Amino acid sequence: MTTPNLSGGAGLHPAAADAGLLAGGIRSAGLKVTAPRLAVLRALTDRPHATADALFGAVRADLPGTSLQAVYGVLASFTTAGLVRKIEPAGSPALFERRVGDNHHHIVCTGCGVVHDVDCAVGHAPCLTPADALGFDVRAAEVIYWGLCAQCQAETALP
Ligand SMILES: [Zn+2]
Ligand SMILES: [Zn+2]
Repeated sequence: MTTPNLSGGAGLHPAAADAGLLAGGIRSAGLKVTAPRLAVLRALTDRPHATADALFGAVRADLPGTSLQAVYGVLASFTTAGLVRKIEPAGSPALFERRVGDNHHHIVCTGCGVVHDVDCAVGHAPCLTPADALGFDVRAAEVIYWGLCAQCQAETALP
């Protein structure tokens, strides 16, 4: 006899286990919990830096009636509420992620387009303190590092 552990993030079926957490996250962002919102947030939990299209593909399995337009609507409400962060690397469709509030940055491969999180260059969000803020109250800094990922380097290095 074991008690299901609903709080752990390392469960075998995190998507099923954290439905309560997902609903709580939506509520604490000041939004009403709806089936499409739950489905999109769940899909995003498993797919950091996903496009709306990719999320729509994932959500459609759970909610066959969902439209791409509905997914865009959910993402817009999440982004406005601060529940989700939207990043827009040049030349890529907008990407969405649940990791918010820490001003982390991204590194993008110019070969295959893979995106990874990069912590602030040094210490805790020092990028928010520019040499001269020109009187602005700076709230966010977006840094995107561009380069060739290790796998693409290995592939280009082949004789
Ligand atoms: Zn690559
Ligand atoms: Zn990220």
